[in-house]
Amino acid sequence: MAEVREDQVRGALATVKTPEGVVLSLASALSGIAINHGKVYLSITVDPAKARAWDAVRVEAEDAVKALPGVVSALVTLTAERKPGGAGQGQQGAGPSAAPARGAGAGGPAQRTISVPGVKSIIAVASGKGGVGKSTTSINLALGLRDQGLKVGLLDADIYGPSVPRLTGLSQKPEMGEGKTLLPLDAFGLKVMSIGFLVEEDQAMIWRGPMVMSALTQMLRDVNWGPLDVLVVDMPPGTGDAQLTMAQQVKLAGAVIVSTPQDLALIDARRGIAMFEKVNVPLLGVVENMAYFVCPHCGERSDIFGHGGARAEAEKVGVPFLGEIPLHMSIRELSDAGRPVVEAEPQSPQAEAYRRVAAGVKAALDKAEGGRAAPRIVVE
Ligand code: ADP
Repeated sequence: MAEVREDQVRGALATVKTPEGVVLSLASALSGIAINHGKVYLSITVDPAKARAWDAVRVEAEDAVKALPGVVSALVTLTAERKPGGAGQGQQGAGPSAAPARGAGAGGPAQRTISVPGVKSIIAVASGKGGVGKSTTSINLALGLRDQGLKVGLLDADIYGPSVPRLTGLSQKPEMGEGKTLLPLDAFGLKVMSIGFLVEEDQAMIWRGPMVMSALTQMLRDVNWGPLDVLVVDMPPGTGDAQLTMAQQVKLAGAVIVSTPQDLALIDARRGIAMFEKVNVPLLGVVENMAYFVCPHCGERSDIFGHGGARAEAEKVGVPFLGEIPLHMSIRELSDAGRPVVEAEPQSPQAEAYRRVAAGVKAALDKAEGGRAAPRIVVE
């Protein structure tokens, strides 16, 4: 059967009215429509104070869409968006995550409201586009931080391509702990959580901005992370709305940008840098991945992509350069086997490269931390 079209869905939504009497298909609150093999997902962004009135709209919208020929299922989620200075949090209204964020209060729209109890620093690992090795870098960076004696967690927030299940070989569903929190799994001494442990891959693939943000918020707040020194967040690739909202709303200690040496990736990486700068998240630095090729047989190094671009770019824009990771067969093979190189071959030069990056990240965090912990005292 032909795929259900968006205009058909909108047509069905034209029969439903918002609490303000606006036709839902035209309402600005309708923030996302996604259709996948007859499964229709809608998100409606609402003022949490009016969530009750909206719930009836949600049910009506579901029924109207379900009645369309070719629709297998319809799921409508209400997403509460934080109002400037208000109490709403960027997440779904129901469920355990409806608890107020720490530090929430009066302030501008860009106020960072999401922090995680028991976690000292949250850092985001981001890339301007997919496939540059962001996830591989995230887990090896997390392991490198672990090797420095830190308690480390890894949140796989890459909704569109969760890789932690593959990188760790884990696939079991996380268990519920006390207070309706999820217990993270353990991988090589890291606390890990992935959207891939929680939902079917094709389901998350089609989420739009507000749904992504709501899932990310839940994975930060509703997982029993603490106590941790550092939580490494493997971000969804790119610089879209979900990434921007995350950078804006989560209390990030800093961001690491992963780039390959190719020009295109650098243009994308620049976008990543600009995104974090825009929302005042400190850039801990840039990692150049697949910087040079190391022959698995003879160990000879070749600069097949003309390496050094990321370092030059980082210097140009005044962002620290954290180091180069070689393109090496063992990195890919071990990743695919669920044993990241820092864990599986700790004595290899590749593992050392990741540990150097981790040392740079730790130093940058310590510096930021030191800046906060030791205010300058002026004696007159
Ligand atoms: P992203 O998270 O940016 O989409 P991944 O980390 O999933 O990228 O990496 C994409 C592919 O490239 C994976 O197969 C991974 O094993 C491989 N890869 C990543 N970094 C390296 C590297 N330095 N050397 C060899 N293969 C790598």
